[in-house]
Amino acid sequence: NAADNTPKRSALDAQDIGAHLHPYTNLAAHEDVGPLMITRGDGIHVIDEQGRKYIEGMSALWCSSLGFSHPRLVQAGIDALKTLPYYHTFNHRSNPAIAQLADRLIQLAPAPMAKVFFANSGSEANDTAIKIIWYYHNAIGKPAKKKILSRQRGYHGVTVAAASLTGLPANHQDFDLPIARIGHVECPHHYRYANPGESEADFATRLADALEQRILQEGPDTVAAFIAEPVMGAGGVIVPPETYFEKIQAVLRKYEVLMVADEVICGFGRTGQMFGSHTFGIQPDILTCAKALSSGYVPISAVMVAPKIYEAMAANSGKIGTFGHGYTYSGHPVAAAVALETLKVYEDEQILAHVNQLSPLFQGRLRGYLDRAYVGEVRGVGMIGAIELVADEATRQPFDPALKLGYRLAQYAQEAGLIVRAMGDAVALCPPLIITEAEMAEMFARLDRALDKLQ
Ligand code: PLP
Repeated sequence: NAADNTPKRSALDAQDIGAHLHPYTNLAAHEDVGPLMITRGDGIHVIDEQGRKYIEGMSALWCSSLGFSHPRLVQAGIDALKTLPYYHTFNHRSNPAIAQLADRLIQLAPAPMAKVFFANSGSEANDTAIKIIWYYHNAIGKPAKKKILSRQRGYHGVTVAAASLTGLPANHQDFDLPIARIGHVECPHHYRYANPGESEADFATRLADALEQRILQEGPDTVAAFIAEPVMGAGGVIVPPETYFEKIQAVLRKYEVLMVADEVICGFGRTGQMFGSHTFGIQPDILTCAKALSSGYVPISAVMVAPKIYEAMAANSGKIGTFGHGYTYSGHPVAAAVALETLKVYEDEQILAHVNQLSPLFQGRLRGYLDRAYVGEVRGVGMIGAIELVADEATRQPFDPALKLGYRLAQYAQEAGLIVRAMGDAVALCPPLIITEAEMAEMFARLDRALDKLQ
């Protein structure tokens, strides 16, 4: 009857609908859709206001690698709050946790790094990287070398400059972005953009040639840096084609263009090694990370800079008196303590070994979906992956976007007790790294049910 169709709203739902301006949400639809009010976390699960328990197949936003209730992270946060709930790091101030965290990150880095700068989010880390790139080139007397190349479908955040790096239309449209001096080159998605019959290696060669042409066209003396996620996340979990980064980096070196690795998703074990740069042979000059740095428990991000960059920055700030950049919460002691503990847990619980033990199963189960109707491509590495649905598997013809197939699949998964993320007609999986074999079996059983419903 009609009464059953009326959504039941709690007082909390009403407050949310009434007052909360949601990020990344169809604002006009929020009243109809209503909030998914998550009240608790437990291991790989989150629990809503009605007590429904979901497997968080996305680690929320690619963050919570240690799940949602790790006792050591909780304790580290409590202890830090009791000892020193806040202090800053401007003007030579520091705190024990942030000093140790910086030192540890330098040990873990995939390339020699001199120093680590701290911020609160991936966007701020990438904004900081841009400012460092500009500051560095002024410092070394190359003020014209300022352009930054990013990739279509890359995701680097939403602050004015980071959103400009991002190569997704929704982040630019009606925001008057991108800003000047930021440009985009091709997305390395072989399934979508390779020519018929083109091998991964040939596709990579073509993209590296195109990058070189672009640098020549812009003028090598004007191109400062190239930024890339080792595996593109929000753009659809795009794993680079074979030899891609090797060829791209050869071009960058030829024209003295800095390589920036955005490890905000790939960092800390997601691809099977500590950083995606390890997995794909990237030697970054600047590396940004966040998310799994604290398992998402507290906001923190980091920017690592190579010695040649740091040395020029230090000399320049010595000359002008200060490096005029920093956030009130740069190096926050509570965030630092939780992040430091997160890195210790990765080591103590041998998370990398666990990922390498379980990822063949994870990737194998994903690839099994290729046998299903309408599954065009399955892709992934380590503990991140995606399934792309297509109307015609032979021609790779996408579905009519109005059908919102990815979104519907994510809805069916949610009804089956699994949270996944739709990106167009692809859905992503990025489960907590602590997931057990039995939990993984249950996660795929729920995804099976969602896919059954679609077909
Ligand atoms: N870079 C990458 C690769 C990301 O996936 C994200 C967020 O998803 C960001 C940067 C931006 O991070 P934040 O949302 O913390 O600003």
